[in-house]
Amino acid sequence: MTWTVGSMRFGARGLMAVLAATTAAPRAATGQAVRLGVVMDLPRQTLEAAWTNAPQQVERAYCVTDWSYGVYHVSRVAPIQDDTVFRVFAIRDADVSNAGPSAVDFECPDGMPELHVHTPTTCMGDDVTTCVSGGLNAYSCQPSRGDLEKLVRRRDAFAVLQCDLHAFRFYYASEYPTPAVVASGPGSRPRTGNLTPAMRYNEPVTQPATDPGSGSRSSP
Ligand SMILES: [Zn+2]
Repeated sequence: MTWTVGSMRFGARGLMAVLAATTAAPRAATGQAVRLGVVMDLPRQTLEAAWTNAPQQVERAYCVTDWSYGVYHVSRVAPIQDDTVFRVFAIRDADVSNAGPSAVDFECPDGMPELHVHTPTTCMGDDVTTCVSGGLNAYSCQPSRGDLEKLVRRRDAFAVLQCDLHAFRFYYASEYPTPAVVASGPGSRPRTGNLTPAMRYNEPVTQPATDPGSGSRSSP
């Protein structure tokens, strides 16, 4: 196994030049084995500093201004499998138009993946005055239907959730089946009500057991 594709970084500058690459390589469905995501030290410190367990808070949102991906070839023979490691190097506050305890409306510029925070609270509907720390809906690390649909619509390679002080959950468009698949068949109509009665999340799953990104690299 070799780490053959060097890490490519995408800042806000030179964005257009790399858009083709960002939408092509990491989103390739065929041969994709595993996607891993890492929030690097600087943005992680920012997010951890902003984290609070206060009962009454609203979701926060950020734009990823600098990130990279590297492809790790697991198998070169059919079926070819590549693992991809995404790294978030920098974030900035997003322009938020509306924020509540269970949703935040914001939009990042094209090419800047999105990161938002799921608050560690449980609330009655969207009324922040009813929120309490902890409870059934705290630490839900699932992207909502709205989160996934937005990611698909934006065509970003990934998006990130922070759902606990040190827990960052990367998610991908491949987690969202096409509406045609979801809607087909009787009784499979998606439920859009409160679907988070017992989603608890205690272990970060985004940290790779072995991190190929820290190994040696060579240029393609
Ligand atoms: Zn969300």
